[in-house]
Amino acid sequence: MSRPTTTHTWSNWAGQQRCSPAVVEDPRTESQVVDAIGRAAEAGHVVRAVGSGHSFTDTCLTDDCHIRLGGLSGLLDADRATGLVRVGAGMRLHDLTRALHTHGLALENQGDIDQQTVAGALATGTHGTGREFRNLSAAVVGCRIALADGTVRDLTAESTPDLLRAARVSIGALGVITEFTLRAVPAFRLRKVEEPRPLVETLDAFDDLSAAHDHFELYAFPYAKTCLSFASDRTDEPPAPLPAWRKWLVDDLVANRGLELFSRAGRSFPGQAPRISRTMTRVLSRDVRVDHSHLVFSSERRVRFTEMEYAIPRAHAATALRAVLAMIESDGVGVTFPIELRTTAPDDAFLSTASGRDTAYIAVHQFQGMPYEAYFRAVEAIMDGFGGRPHWGKRHFQTAETLAPRYPEWDRFAAARAELDPAGRFTNDYVRRTLGPPPAEVHA
Ligand SMILES: Cc1cc2nc3c(=O)[nH]c(=O)nc-3n(C[C@H](O)[C@H](O)[C@H](O)COP(=O)(O)OP(=O)(O)OC[C@H]3O[C@@H](n4cnc5c(N)ncnc54)[C@H](O)[C@@H]3O)c2cc1C
Repeated sequence: MSRPTTTHTWSNWAGQQRCSPAVVEDPRTESQVVDAIGRAAEAGHVVRAVGSGHSFTDTCLTDDCHIRLGGLSGLLDADRATGLVRVGAGMRLHDLTRALHTHGLALENQGDIDQQTVAGALATGTHGTGREFRNLSAAVVGCRIALADGTVRDLTAESTPDLLRAARVSIGALGVITEFTLRAVPAFRLRKVEEPRPLVETLDAFDDLSAAHDHFELYAFPYAKTCLSFASDRTDEPPAPLPAWRKWLVDDLVANRGLELFSRAGRSFPGQAPRISRTMTRVLSRDVRVDHSHLVFSSERRVRFTEMEYAIPRAHAATALRAVLAMIESDGVGVTFPIELRTTAPDDAFLSTASGRDTAYIAVHQFQGMPYEAYFRAVEAIMDGFGGRPHWGKRHFQTAETLAPRYPEWDRFAAARAELDPAGRFTNDYVRRTLGPPPAEVHA
């Protein structure tokens, strides 16, 4: 179960964050999680729970102790009538959504991929799109969390409302969550229309378009006049997935192999980025599919990249995206990856990037091996002007000082942290930088 090792190197999905934890723990029960935390405490180790490593930040890094939750995964209980389900924290969203489907249930909303663990996705405020739909953490109605003092707490909205609102988006800074109770919804189908559109008109109409559809998002291609929109709506139509050849063409050839090819060309000839980006928009096509929600929400991402994403007030979505595109052109940034624009409804998790406000998300990407820092810093400067909150799992250059004023409930999260992990057993460099030092240090 415990694997002390000197040779184990962990790296994230993008391959740019690495560490060599002295101990890797693979508990299979909650009491083994408690024991693992106890051993780490004896050794004076920092503990980081790790999911599937899909975060771009250094949030999982430590040279001390990693706890992997793969042994605590599975749908433990599902009540179709209430929609309440109990889920092992290490379960992948891919497996969860399929298990829910067999019970006639689904997640209300999902992000672009489903390879993350439930705990990892929730910890960073993972979201999809849809202005009436909140991010994934809004589905949490309870959780069990193993703490530094060797206890396990049951957090619920009734008994510990503040602690639960903190634990819904926790960045792994409060303890190791072993289990969640989520509110699922009756299974549903989506009709998704993917189509190229003129960028200027689509941005002008962004508010109306995102109001007209359950889930609306767009990809803006730098230097190009065409964008790609995705509009998904709940439907009673029978499933009509893309024919196999068309799915291969759209999802595999264009979205993965084509993107990889164009990205490699952009990396070899950054000065040609404008031409490459414009060429990409010429291979886009209109496609319509109807399928079960989990098969529509997420897709496969094989091209490796790094990413920054900012949450800003929704009212500024189009203005902010226009500013990013203008900066790319004026600075001549060598980027061919499209910029993603999404929305979500406000929610009330203390550290949710959509906490208390209608939100738009603007995400910028850079292909692996290409310089990203100057580009991302320039985007961040634009987002600072809109009170932007960075995705906790995606690159950013903020600190606790710059972030605190952007979160109305910052102090309530800090109070929860002081109660659950005063000495900072779960505080690594990322947590220290973005949330501040452990409470005990502050009050020493
Ligand atoms: C290709 C790709 C597509 C993506 N698409 C989206 C998207 O559409 N929308 C979006 O919002 N994000 C998206 N992301 C970001 C991703 O959802 C988040 O980074 C998420 O946190 C990754 O989950 P994970 O299981 O890999 O967690 P990890 O990256 O392994 O860990 C993330 C955090 O969770 C903590 N954690 C993990 N398990 C536990 C536990 N049991 N208890 C307490 N803390 C824990 C870790 O300590 C860490 O702080 C994408 C990322 C990639 C690489």
